[in-house]
Amino acid sequence: MKSKLKVLMVSSEVVPFAKTGGLADVVGSLPLALSKLGCELRIAMPKYKMVSESGFNLLNIDKEVNVKVGNTMQKAKIFSTKVAGVVTVYFFDHHEYYDRDQLYGTTQEGDYKDNLNRFSFFARGTLELLKKIDYKPHIIHCHDWQTALIPVYLKTLYRDDPFFEGVKTLFTIHNLAYQGIFPEEEFNITGLDKEELFTPDKLEFWEKINLMKGALIYADILNTVSRGYAQEILTQEYGCGLEGVLKERKDKLYGVINGIDYKEWDPTMDKELTMSYDINTIERKSKNKKALQQENNLTVDENIPLLGMITRLSAQKGLDILDEIIEELMELDIQFILLGTGEAKYHEKMKQIKEKFPSKAAIHLSFDPKLAKKIYAGADMFLMPSRYEPCGLGQLISLRYGNVPIVRATGGLKDTIINFNPVKKTGNGFTFEEYSSQMLYSTIKRAVETFYKDKESWRRLVLNGMSADFSWEHSAKEYIELYEKALK
Ligand code: ADP
Repeated sequence: MKSKLKVLMVSSEVVPFAKTGGLADVVGSLPLALSKLGCELRIAMPKYKMVSESGFNLLNIDKEVNVKVGNTMQKAKIFSTKVAGVVTVYFFDHHEYYDRDQLYGTTQEGDYKDNLNRFSFFARGTLELLKKIDYKPHIIHCHDWQTALIPVYLKTLYRDDPFFEGVKTLFTIHNLAYQGIFPEEEFNITGLDKEELFTPDKLEFWEKINLMKGALIYADILNTVSRGYAQEILTQEYGCGLEGVLKERKDKLYGVINGIDYKEWDPTMDKELTMSYDINTIERKSKNKKALQQENNLTVDENIPLLGMITRLSAQKGLDILDEIIEELMELDIQFILLGTGEAKYHEKMKQIKEKFPSKAAIHLSFDPKLAKKIYAGADMFLMPSRYEPCGLGQLISLRYGNVPIVRATGGLKDTIINFNPVKKTGNGFTFEEYSSQMLYSTIKRAVETFYKDKESWRRLVLNGMSADFSWEHSAKEYIELYEKALK
């Protein structure tokens, strides 16, 4: 009998313990899907304040990990818990590094100044932990820049360590724009040999240290979270300066679309909803719309299209082009509900919109997962005009909740949303190619007109969305194929 494939996932955020974005959703769901397919999964992550306060019973496993960070010895206690009875999660308890209100920095002061210390420690500490608990996985699956030093350490400091012989790495890029860039002066924090590694063909990037670049060079296999984005990042437009490195490793670079957790996102069971519904009872969805309108002091009328948006307020998410047309947009016969946090200038703009259109706009400048569910269930349309989008989860959740996505055709949005064809009555949303406020405006208008004038087509769009399958099972199988490729 073939032995179980053992995978250690390493991520700086994991649902339900700590989340700032889609990465946490992925590492919260994928391990469970992989376990169902017969793999043995464990996870490592930092024990942030958010984790300690999340109400989970974390057990001190009585193991301590010691790692040299710069000229200091740092240590963490290891805590652990089990998710769904099958996935063991290890938490690095280092009070000074992780017991903070935020994960990476604050809105006022930007990134924490010691992020290189925090994540070098986490990366090397993970390898030390494996030795301490004598657990040798076949694959270490690393996610984003915070874990990017793991493949580098394995092929440098640990290359002759027999414990890691045969252990392979997969590095998943969730967002190439965040690379983990630090000043050259901090190089000694990593514990790596500067002469060997601080060169333009390794970790040096325009005279700075670039952790992501290290992973792109040293990981055995690479992937991003959609096929579309895997193609796009080979170009100058989307490659964020790393397109050259990626082209060199093109034969090891794959795209696997994210799924969503169908238990977590389920309009038939969702406790936050006023009324549950499914594909056979979509007329019940309107009860959620009514409640959302009521709770947000919007005019209660199911015939007015309600446009939802749940997002980080950043230019990546298309806030710059939305900003240019939002007032004009609000003159249409629509309602708009936004949930998001991010750049101060967009907070300001959205507050102005609320003041100017009190019965048509609802603005929530916060992070609120419960409200998010109410919006997914209550809105008619969902806006994601991203400049670039590695995968995007909002559009997938929207499809599941019978919300019609309006998206820019890029990355994962391009792979999952098919433009409505009014003649053939096909598609599951509305898409546009050119990144401009005019195209955004005309696409929203196209959707609004369809909503008002062609109820039958609208119903088709909703049904097409709700009948799609973006559960994790399919993508988890593709990840197993990647693990097998790495082990070959
Ligand atoms: P990102 O680039 O931010 O990771 P994704 O679309 O991949 O974008 O994932 C975003 C996830 O975070 C989705 O699950 C979305 O519902 C959620 N989200 C984003 N902003 C908020 C918010 N302000 N409140 C609650 N959930 C949010």
